Amino acid sequence: MSDQTNIEWADSTFNPWMGCTKVSPACDHCYAERDTKRFGRVEWGAGKPRVRTSAANWKLPERWEKQAFWFRSCSHCGWRGELPSGGACGVCPRCGWAAATNPSRRRVFCASLADWLDNEVPIEWLVDLLDLIRRTPNLDWLLLTKRIGIWRGRLQSVLDFRPGSGAGALAFNWLDGRPPANVWLGATVINQAEADRDVPKLLAVPARVRFLSIEPMLGDIRLGSWLQLSPSAAFLAGKVTQEMPAWTRIGSTRLDWIIAGGESGPHARPMHPDWGRSLRDQCAAAGVPFLFKQWGEWAPVDPCMPSELQESEELAGKLVDGMHRVGKKAAGRKLDGRTHDGSSAAQP
Ligand code: SF4
Repeated sequence: MSDQTNIEWADSTFNPWMGCTKVSPACDHCYAERDTKRFGRVEWGAGKPRVRTSAANWKLPERWEKQAFWFRSCSHCGWRGELPSGGACGVCPRCGWAAATNPSRRRVFCASLADWLDNEVPIEWLVDLLDLIRRTPNLDWLLLTKRIGIWRGRLQSVLDFRPGSGAGALAFNWLDGRPPANVWLGATVINQAEADRDVPKLLAVPARVRFLSIEPMLGDIRLGSWLQLSPSAAFLAGKVTQEMPAWTRIGSTRLDWIIAGGESGPHARPMHPDWGRSLRDQCAAAGVPFLFKQWGEWAPVDPCMPSELQESEELAGKLVDGMHRVGKKAAGRKLDGRTHDGSSAAQP
């Protein structure tokens, strides 16, 4: 919950509530559970009450909305953020280049300590969240979930619960094929089986931008047709279900943005470099932006690695299939010597 975040693919985070239930091997070492339990604030799991965040926290997005005019990105160094008050308009506060900043939209990762589609969350909280999204049209809301399959059910519950509200109108329009313009919809998958199960569901939901988060990457994933096919071809290939709304068959239904990375934390599992390379190459061939977020705790063996690092205690006896456990910081986020920071080109 902050103005700024270290998450490479977002500008800010907002948590409307905390707590969740594990639904995938991706959740095995859930950092949200670790972080929230450490402070004794949240119980985790099925049947445990979720914790709504403070009223003051809920006001943050409204403040960002009011300050949206000052949110910029720098065309020279890539900096993104709010221009400091009193700062010269157009001058980048990081690199100092004049006339380098351009109006941008703040990307808000919603629910980094929860899942926005969690069906154990009281429906009135989701009503409040959708209403907040509706009232902040100058923010781009990145709604990422491991429960994409229940999108329709949750939206229908919002509509049934408050049909006359702003959130009800948003739900009605979205269900009817008119998605909110300020929502980027994402699904998390970690291996081919999850991609086969969930990508068709993601593509069947109307959305202005659809993205895939492959974190932690735990297997090779071939996205093939989901990166490339026209809607009719995808339909014929059986990748998109008959139940998909008519709207989604108009225009592009391919994935717009791919994020991938390895796992961090004490029990992190290694990610094979070839999985990342393959994904990078698939995206390049299809012209889809690719962001490589991190290696996580494990990095590929690098003969040029500084000797002091090679001799560190952390490395001792921990060689796994060409990977060394070196720690997240040392592992970094370069893939074959390059940083991949692709982003959906939908909006700056
Ligand atoms: S869905 Fe996300 S927040 Fe929920 S348990 Fe899994 S990793 Fe944690």
